Amino acid sequence: MKVLLHVCCAPDATVAVKRLRQSGLEPILYFYNPNIEPIEEYEKRLEATKLLAEAWGLELIEDRSGYDEWKDSIKGLENLGERSKRCEACIAHRLKKTALKALSLGVEFFCTTLTTSPKKDSKYINSLGKKLELEFGVKFLEADFKKQDGFKQSVELSKALGLYRQNYCGCIYSLKEKQLRSGKDETVHRKIDGGSSQRL
Ligand code: SF4
Repeated sequence: MKVLLHVCCAPDATVAVKRLRQSGLEPILYFYNPNIEPIEEYEKRLEATKLLAEAWGLELIEDRSGYDEWKDSIKGLENLGERSKRCEACIAHRLKKTALKALSLGVEFFCTTLTTSPKKDSKYINSLGKKLELEFGVKFLEADFKKQDGFKQSVELSKALGLYRQNYCGCIYSLKEKQLRSGKDETVHRKIDGGSSQRL
């Protein structure tokens, strides 16, 4: 049985793929992350996902669409910080797109690697997935991949495979927030507030 697995990054996908396969499911990787900026960072995370797909014989779908839709989804929430309504909207956007993709492909299940991260609220993600299941009629696989040392295993697996691991969540706002936290308020080459809707 196939499952469309939304991949936020390759390291988080390692443990998710392992566990899905252990459950007798075959994941199709779906890289849909219009939130990731700048573009160089997007390419690095995509390349790592390609590496994982090749190493483990996985089908990978890359979807570069949706930047303007994603920007609209977080409009007015840009400066709320991580683990806020901004992140809920960002996750909801990517999960909805995954449900619709599964529907269009005729894949029975969808799921996300986002629950591998200790920084992501699995309860929120799972309740959202269930709502989308009711809305679109595609089954959502509830998971909490960080459990049972899942995050630790993802670190070990990605190290063994030589996968690139990012050091901020993904959007330009999270990059700026990370730089402020670490005292490095480096210039981020785009307007943080509003700005154009062009991807960098
Ligand atoms: S911090 Fe991460 S989850 Fe939150 S809006 Fe940015 S990319 Fe999305």
